[in-house]
Amino acid sequence: MLTNDSKHNWLLENTYTKLPEVFFSLHKPVPVAKPEIVCFNQILANELGIGFLNEDKQRIVDYFSGNVIPSGATPLAQAYAGHQFGHFTMLGDGRAILLGEQIDPTGKKFDIQLKGSGQTPYSRRGDGRATLYSMLREYIISEAMHHLGIPTTRSLSVISTGEKVFRGEMHNGSVLTRIADSHIRVGTFEYARNFCSVEDLKALTLYTLERHYPDKKDADNPALELLKEVIHKQIDLIVHWMRVGFIHGVMNTDNMSIAGETIDYGPCAFMNAYSPNTVFSSIDTRGRYAFGNQPFIAQWNLTAFANALLPLISENQKKAIDLAQQVIEGFQYTFTKKWNRMMFAKLGILHPEENDKELINTLLESMESHKMDYTQLFLALQQDKELDNSLFRSEAFKEWKQHWKNAQSRNENQTLILALMNTSNPKVIPRNHWVENALETAAQGDMESFNELLGILSKPYHDHPDELQFQQVPEDFDTSYQTFCGT
Ligand code: AMP
Ligand code: MG
Repeated sequence: MLTNDSKHNWLLENTYTKLPEVFFSLHKPVPVAKPEIVCFNQILANELGIGFLNEDKQRIVDYFSGNVIPSGATPLAQAYAGHQFGHFTMLGDGRAILLGEQIDPTGKKFDIQLKGSGQTPYSRRGDGRATLYSMLREYIISEAMHHLGIPTTRSLSVISTGEKVFRGEMHNGSVLTRIADSHIRVGTFEYARNFCSVEDLKALTLYTLERHYPDKKDADNPALELLKEVIHKQIDLIVHWMRVGFIHGVMNTDNMSIAGETIDYGPCAFMNAYSPNTVFSSIDTRGRYAFGNQPFIAQWNLTAFANALLPLISENQKKAIDLAQQVIEGFQYTFTKKWNRMMFAKLGILHPEENDKELINTLLESMESHKMDYTQLFLALQQDKELDNSLFRSEAFKEWKQHWKNAQSRNENQTLILALMNTSNPKVIPRNHWVENALETAAQGDMESFNELLGILSKPYHDHPDELQFQQVPEDFDTSYQTFCGT
């Protein structure tokens, strides 16, 4: 029950502390010198039931810089491991502190985590801090993803620390407050499997089921059910990413959330011209995390997840492997089915037939060879516009359009077709050059273009002036554009 008083107070607890101690280190954020608000998400604060903070700048600064711990919080750093570019390693929150779970007015729990909050027992050689630039980048892209209708961690605030952070040169430091269904990762299970006891692994599994999939808790084989649920969530998530041209950039197993949210915005970016090989991350030299590779990597990561769960799936390891394998093998089938459905929705085909799949393949191939912008193409189809691109001038595309229209016209209901296309095709996405331009001035303290962009990105399916929707990406921008991890 919410008491009257709770309207003016946190409703925080930290159930993670109920897990065996191997899973975390109790640790407080390291205070910062001169914290100031850079941005604060008032709407999200209201949703979380902490709207009482909206008018209280001093408390925002105190809590979300890590200088004051809110009542009910038990600050800790989580332990986890992970496969980074395929190599297994011990990790953990090296620059983040989980304050606890805020219970929102509907009774739902959300992790409140400070990122960039100083060193922890898992920092290894890192300084525990984050640059203002990279936390603002996470803020704007995660909020854009939310408004695109894609499961994601949210951003509540960015507080500048008044301290400098060294990344080759000096940068302004900051702390981001991240809101998540939880911060349990595939890597948390890998940690349990490799560094803890089977009892610990069991405790983590039950905790996770209780928190995210409570109706599976009493299943005959809870671990196998957890695997199935996580696979489904991840399939839905990756299909969403493929819908809008999102490239996560660093799909290591420690960056894959068990709750199925997009998490850890490091070198992520959006694809402009369609190519499955698109990569922007400076360290992804082999394209492991390229746009078109994301489903395969998701399956790879989920195999690592299955591996971690094996001792709980069956005491008989051969049987455990057989059961897990069957489930993992289903990934491809379900993913393809859902991806096809999503692509048909982008094309407004309500009743696809088997050979319509050819329409999708042909379109993607010609988009790639004509370097056609992914977002603009679907928008042009939806709005019946001709674009100044060699694709639109090609005979093959004119023919393709005829086949597409025939497939569409199996359903006469134009309203339904348009509604489907409207919710599948964003009119604006966080274009890399927009984001970088806004961040450049924001990192220097001028938030005007950042806030303006944030406003545009909060309405991705609304109509915007054509200059925004069909804006040309500066020539050669993509060829030289690079993104970076953990800055
Ligand atoms: P990421 O690439 O952001 O997923 O981070 C991978 C690992 O490096 C995680 O264990 C992070 O906590 C850790 N890490 C990243 N940056 C820092 C930093 N500046 N200080 C300490 N640990 C860090
Ligand atoms: Mg990470």
